[in-house]
Amino acid sequence: MLEKVVIANRGEIALRILRACRDMNIKTVAVHSEADRDLMHVGMADESVCIGPAASAESYLNIPAIISAAEVTDATAIHPGYGFLSENAEFAEVVESSGFIFIGPKSETIRMMGDKIAAKRAMEAAGVPCVPGTSEPIGDDMDRAKQLAQEIGYPIMVKAAGGGGGRGMRVVHREDELTEAVSLTKTEAGAAFNDDRLFMEKFLEEPRHVEFQVLADTHGNAIHLCERDCSMQRRNQKVIEEAPAFGITPEQREQIGSVITEACRQIGYRGAGTFEFLYANGEFYFIEMNTRVQVEHPVTEMITGIDIVKQQLLIAAGEKLTFAQDDIKIRGHAIECRINAEDPYKFIPCPGKISHFHCPGGPGIRVDTHLYNGYNVPPYYDSMIGKLLAIGHSREGALTRMRGALHEIVIDGITTNIPLLQDLMMDDTFVNAKHNIHYLQSKLS
Ligand code: ADP
Repeated sequence: MLEKVVIANRGEIALRILRACRDMNIKTVAVHSEADRDLMHVGMADESVCIGPAASAESYLNIPAIISAAEVTDATAIHPGYGFLSENAEFAEVVESSGFIFIGPKSETIRMMGDKIAAKRAMEAAGVPCVPGTSEPIGDDMDRAKQLAQEIGYPIMVKAAGGGGGRGMRVVHREDELTEAVSLTKTEAGAAFNDDRLFMEKFLEEPRHVEFQVLADTHGNAIHLCERDCSMQRRNQKVIEEAPAFGITPEQREQIGSVITEACRQIGYRGAGTFEFLYANGEFYFIEMNTRVQVEHPVTEMITGIDIVKQQLLIAAGEKLTFAQDDIKIRGHAIECRINAEDPYKFIPCPGKISHFHCPGGPGIRVDTHLYNGYNVPPYYDSMIGKLLAIGHSREGALTRMRGALHEIVIDGITTNIPLLQDLMMDDTFVNAKHNIHYLQSKLS
């Protein structure tokens, strides 16, 4: 088993990882920036190391500082959480070449999945259904590009191979817009991702976002833990997630589940991961794979009873999965609301001091947060400050409990998006599960 884990992250996920380690009697090292000395998990960890100033580039993205912290504390492994360096292939490589275990897939897998063209090719080869489009970069020959776009059929999306975080993509409705869209996206992608390769795919007009959670060990076993719907998004960022996804039949789940677990075996996948799909007219279209734990993993934990972070630690220690696909049973319906320190309708970050925090509770409620009375939300990082979850026997039951918890929660001193979440819990389109990825944006505009 792992002896000591460096938690290379902050906020709620750092606390979540610390708790999983504590459950397994693994010692923990919190690494933090100068602005984050008062984070809850820093006080709870066995050891802590300050790795640099507030700016992420100098602390949470500072690879040498994190490796040094692992060295001075004589740690065994590094957990990258989500965001920051979690999908940085170079980081995974340096962690392993420095003699530590990287809690995640092999660096080659991270590199391949970070390149959307390579990922799409690998998935097509493994029989995973993808969005119709090109799986080769768009060259300089615009006549050829126009011909390919014609074949796909407008509207199409021009996407950067190295894109991420909802950036590096552009919708093109007509042929006369193509040349300019390619040129703009190419320039942006070169500057933002240091990689100006682009590809094209069909733009799906009213899809839902449905994703599958997988776990794969180093002994060739791979299983899926059912799917989540994450269609309620603002600016391509998820706001509400739920599991299982409404309207997906057991047959569809089994069919996609068997294709993706087979793909995991084919590419030698290791650890927890997520296959993201757009879902339209009853069909799944792969968009990307996330090679890390996701913000929304607790909804899956609630309906399956499996601790995903604990499984990441066990897999990294070389253990075999102790359950098979048939052992995975879904119980109930879980919903997660992301709580952000931001203006609920304009999404402008609102950091500041929490003057009073009351955490809701009761049967079927889970709160993953690092907040406490008097905590100061710093302005330097992502605005998400916690996740509120509810499980019920049915979707309706989970919604009822969520409404109660959103009524009960108190976060005073800063502005949060709780009013928006309360609105959405009463929204007919959401309540009747009729929303797609564009719904929230259209409701607010
Ligand atoms: P990123 O890596 O930046 O997160 P993704 O490929 O996962 O990019 O896409 C992010 C979001 O953009 C999706 O959840 C969806 O809302 C939208 N999107 C991506 N591809 C398409 C497409 N082909 N058609 C319609 N919307 C898309």
